[in-house]
Amino acid sequence: MILDGRHIASVIREELSQEIGRIVADGGRAPSLAVVIVGHNPASETYVRNKIRACEEVGIQAQKIAFDEDVTEDVLLQQIDILNQDPSIDGFLVQLPLPEHISEQKIAERIDYRKDVDGLCPENVGRTMLGMPSIMSATPKGIRELLKRYDIPTEGKRVVVIGRSNIVGKPMAMLLIQKNLLGNATVTLCHTKTPNLKEVCLEADIIIVAVGQPCTLTEDMVRTGCVVVDVGINRVNDQSDKGYRLCGDADFEKLKDKCSYISPVPGGVGPMTIASLLQNTLQAYKFRITKD
Ligand code: NAD
Repeated sequence: MILDGRHIASVIREELSQEIGRIVADGGRAPSLAVVIVGHNPASETYVRNKIRACEEVGIQAQKIAFDEDVTEDVLLQQIDILNQDPSIDGFLVQLPLPEHISEQKIAERIDYRKDVDGLCPENVGRTMLGMPSIMSATPKGIRELLKRYDIPTEGKRVVVIGRSNIVGKPMAMLLIQKNLLGNATVTLCHTKTPNLKEVCLEADIIIVAVGQPCTLTEDMVRTGCVVVDVGINRVNDQSDKGYRLCGDADFEKLKDKCSYISPVPGGVGPMTIASLLQNTLQAYKFRITKD
């Protein structure tokens, strides 16, 4: 069965739209998000456009703040300070990747965790790990929600996460080991130095693959009935007008009949990440409102 992230994300957007509609109808102001982008990376520009459009659809006021590729780290940090202080901004994110002369770590450290709708700053990562209230990293949160909405339990399951990035693999593993009903899994986190990936995967009830290489997860690595969540977004050249198509990290065609559930690319995790971003923005808004 297909884990239809596009559909679940549209259900979540409808829920958010109704909730924000009620807030505004009751005289409240709409939540607001700022998206900071540096340079003109075409993929980043598409992501930012999609995020802003998704915000507008649910009633979140969104604005883009764009800098040229050669902006200095200091200027970007100053912009973050402004956004941290600005009472009209509930949440913001800095689109990654950044040019090499800017430290992503310094940027993440400067963002006020209460406005960090990507859930990537150290305070949110730490709070998530400790099981404290936090804004969670958007992609792992979206994957957890996708599993939940398909009634796929994680409790007591053996989950293999492939990829240890700070934005997907590590926070995913952290969420799944939490002592709650959406966690309680036994998690193995694999990476490039894992020697026996196939054997580890064959033990898994659920595999979450986030490496950024097509066909990393093949048919012989997956037990019949396994759940596969494919995070990867890869461009593969083809004969289409665009000259390429998108695919994930799993061999979808060979796996789709062997798995009990599998998420497609596109249309799986991607839309869930954006839905999580919208949820995180509403969470940041509510936090500020209760503090005002
Ligand atoms: P990354 O690109 O920073 O790092 C890749 C990780 O995969 C590393 O930890 C590496 O150790 C591991 N890895 C690479 N090859 C491997 C192999 N053969 N075996 C085992 N481990 C291997 O990771 P990222 O930023 O999490 O991105 C991974 C993929 O997910 C990319 O394709 C990215 O575009 C995609 N992504 C999608 C979404 C979404 O919303 N759908 C969000 C974030 C990232």
